Amino acid sequence: MNPPPDAYSSGPSRVPPNLPDYPAARAAFSWNEVRAELEGLPEGAGLNIAHEAVDRHARGARRDHVAIRWLGKDGGVRDISYGELSAASNRFANVLRGLDLGKGERVFSLAQRVPELYFAALGTLKNTSVFCPLFPAFGPGPIQQRLVRGNARVLVTSAALYQAKVAGIRPELPELQAVLLTDAPDHLDAGLLSLPRLMAEAGEEFTIPPTDPEDMALLHFTSGTTGMPKAAVHVHQAVLTHYASGRDVLDFHPDDIFWCTADPGWVTGTSYGIIAPLLHGVTMVVDEADFDAEHWYRTLDEQRVTVWYTAPTAIRRLMRLPGNPREQHDLGALRLILSVGEPLNPEAVLWGERALGLAIRDNWWQTETGGIMIANFPACAIRPGSMGLPLPGIEAAIVHVGESGAEPIEEPGVEGELALRANWPSMFRGYLHDDERYRKCFSNGWYLSGDLAKRDADGYYWFVGRGDDIIKTAGHMVGPFEVESALMEHPAVAEAGVIGKPDPLIGQLVKAFVTLKDGHVPDEETRRAILGFARKRLGSAVAPKEIEFTANLPKTRSGKIMRRLLKARELGLPEGDLSTLED
Ligand code: ATP
Ligand code: MG
Repeated sequence: MNPPPDAYSSGPSRVPPNLPDYPAARAAFSWNEVRAELEGLPEGAGLNIAHEAVDRHARGARRDHVAIRWLGKDGGVRDISYGELSAASNRFANVLRGLDLGKGERVFSLAQRVPELYFAALGTLKNTSVFCPLFPAFGPGPIQQRLVRGNARVLVTSAALYQAKVAGIRPELPELQAVLLTDAPDHLDAGLLSLPRLMAEAGEEFTIPPTDPEDMALLHFTSGTTGMPKAAVHVHQAVLTHYASGRDVLDFHPDDIFWCTADPGWVTGTSYGIIAPLLHGVTMVVDEADFDAEHWYRTLDEQRVTVWYTAPTAIRRLMRLPGNPREQHDLGALRLILSVGEPLNPEAVLWGERALGLAIRDNWWQTETGGIMIANFPACAIRPGSMGLPLPGIEAAIVHVGESGAEPIEEPGVEGELALRANWPSMFRGYLHDDERYRKCFSNGWYLSGDLAKRDADGYYWFVGRGDDIIKTAGHMVGPFEVESALMEHPAVAEAGVIGKPDPLIGQLVKAFVTLKDGHVPDEETRRAILGFARKRLGSAVAPKEIEFTANLPKTRSGKIMRRLLKARELGLPEGDLSTLED
């Protein structure tokens, strides 16, 4: 396995990549060496994520370096240094201690991307309590369900979110001891407290208690793309993966300005929107506002963002717009653009090169994996449509799961389930309250991802589809991603979601739901043109037989196309859990 050096532009070569030689790095890799780059708690008291992310820098040369550059919705900007972040998270940890909250107890957040959210996340980790971020656009039902399932003891939220979404369900949350309001000047009652006041009264010094690397640190609910969200448990040891992937994939260098567009309510927004950049002492941009193309381009330009981590759904939204963004904006500071969360269509990779000046680097991971597992490294050639190569320290395989369990398929090019050797530091340690489901994820020492993929002769992994989404049509197995990517190459298509629809003759027929770019009419002529185009690209066995135009595709709030919902609606079946459905 010896991938060729990068054929696509990797941007201005201002800095040499941290990982210049993939095969060599893979051969030499050891998790012990990663551990040795971290500090550990004083006097051998263990390993704590927040110590590595914040205190280590606050006590060193990076004390005055900007950790968070916060961009408020109203245009305000606040720079928070590593020293200040350390003090604020200490105060929050002292607030928890004052509430008698200890190891393993759960602190939830339901907040906009305000600085207090970041203080709370890091302060919770310092106190060895467990941080569980929720996406603030959830309605009361999904919030209640998650707070109950996660045994929430403390909730950090704003006065407005509390009134709108939590006050009404409070009687159903007997375990919830205190709600801390990020923007209330005074306490309202014994269980509804002002966080600014508590923080002002709390001390600025805090000694992190001994932390076992296996102590629970984070609880993340999955996106709910395929069904009821699961609560994945992560431990402090995960910091090794956060650190190694920040070094090797996000390629952090000391002067980087990093922007992760994911909300901390999803695992990406915590692992890479809080932890990994801080571990490397870089400056991270936190943008309180929601997606807006013009505002995003302006942020990249004005903040001189060097490394940008975003998602296919956002990229496809930018692709819809006419014109070239580089005519209005200077995107010249960028040297790396990465994407995760859904398959990244080859068309999007190339659009990045054309429109932004950099091909976009896809990477693959899940809530369960805690960090990036497969990636297009800065020094390796991108194969558009491929997720890339496994990280050093990560053993991936395509497996067949038969009667004797999971067996790796050695031959390249064969489709099977994507599996990982179950031994990496950020592997989830359980689904909370669901041991049986957790056990079912493992076989013969492999973690089974539930995604189907194949590996080419050079070791690159190619996503085929989620196990549940695979279409069986006339004896073929068709992955929706392949069909969606081909449709997106048609100039009228903005986005596509593909499902299998039961058919008496061929098992399932391939049906595509398509949204059009502005200026294209959803009429019979367009439909026929796209059908013809797809048949030419894919052959008649794989091309969709039906196309339905739609103004929007149903998506999770984290931006993933919900094919299960397209299918349920098509077939008139129950829609299942809709807690993560975008409005
Ligand atoms: P749920 O498990 O609740 O159905 P989910 O799987 O969407 O939701 P996440 O853990 O947020 O929840 O997402 C991980 C999944 O996202 C992966 O299993 C995969 O299907 C998809 N995914 C993530 N990154 C990529 C990628 N680069 N290419 C293809 N698919 C990806
Ligand atoms: Mg999943």
